[in-house]
Amino acid sequence: MRWDNLADNPDETTKTGTGALFAADAVTTRTFDTPEFRGITFHEVRARSIVNRVPGASRMPFEWTVNPYRGCTHACVYCFARKTHSYLDLDTGLGFDSQIVVKINAPELVRRELASPRWHGAHIAMGTNVDCYQRAEGRYGLMPGILTALRDHANPFSILTKGTLILRDLELLRQAAEVTEVGVSVSVGFTDPGLWRTVEPGTPSPERRLNVVRTLSEHGIGCGVLMAPVIPYLGDRPDQLRATVRAIAAAGATSVTPLVLHLRPGAREWFMEWLGHHHPHLVRRYERLYADGAYAPTWYQRRITRYVHELATEYGIGPSHHGTPRGFPERDERRTPPAASEPTQLTLL
Ligand code: SF4
Repeated sequence: MRWDNLADNPDETTKTGTGALFAADAVTTRTFDTPEFRGITFHEVRARSIVNRVPGASRMPFEWTVNPYRGCTHACVYCFARKTHSYLDLDTGLGFDSQIVVKINAPELVRRELASPRWHGAHIAMGTNVDCYQRAEGRYGLMPGILTALRDHANPFSILTKGTLILRDLELLRQAAEVTEVGVSVSVGFTDPGLWRTVEPGTPSPERRLNVVRTLSEHGIGCGVLMAPVIPYLGDRPDQLRATVRAIAAAGATSVTPLVLHLRPGAREWFMEWLGHHHPHLVRRYERLYADGAYAPTWYQRRITRYVHELATEYGIGPSHHGTPRGFPERDERRTPPAASEPTQLTLL
């Protein structure tokens, strides 16, 4: 494994000269013989920086991120972050699901970097690469320290997750929301239980995720839903889209933002292998739909987006169902960069 390259985007690492983000001798490898963590290997590292700047060309509506983990036990077949495991010479398939890098000093680094005179309080997005409330968080408990630092510095932030563990930190979120802008979005692309079990095998069920939305709302923390991914030919039937938007509305989501599956290198190979195994009759159709690259054709994306927006209106989700998912700010170019920089290849859950 290449422990000298923890940056999420190796090209940017070279450009910025950040190089190694932790020393090779700082890696401790652990396994836990509990049913929850059987078969999973944790690589504990002491990172050198934690607040990362999004590469300038990113299409994402945020500039700064914090990612305390690499790899994700939620194991979504389509996960867009799989590619980043290859930068460590780790496998992007099962290895991504079971070899988890844990930046154990993330809370102290966040506190230190927020206190830097060069940091001027820009919005920080979390859950943009891998899920910060994946199962590992139940054991390592990094998020409470991170949220406490953000609260103490009244630093605006957002979280995107599929993890119900976020409810453990409800009180911290509530406290932070009293002093700064806090946005939470939960990712629910569909509610079909059969599809969930095969394509997102390590995640809490869509129903439990929507319960997170409901609970947060009941405690005064508005929560949007990133309806992602909408999976062509498996989760895009009108009745499926309707059932999903109806459930999102019933959970009290403040917004719904649809996003059609995209298949970048790393995710594409793993997804297509899964498709060939579970739905071989769809392989040719997918090859045609994604013939031009990682994204489905514009006409297809527009059709899904338009229909979901119509449903959102029908079910009274809003008012921002046509905009950025809740918690993800418009870009603010006036912000000043901090000292730390770990370039990040961004994904959305
Ligand atoms: S899509 Fe999100 S929740 Fe699923 S494996 Fe990737 S990072 Fe984890």
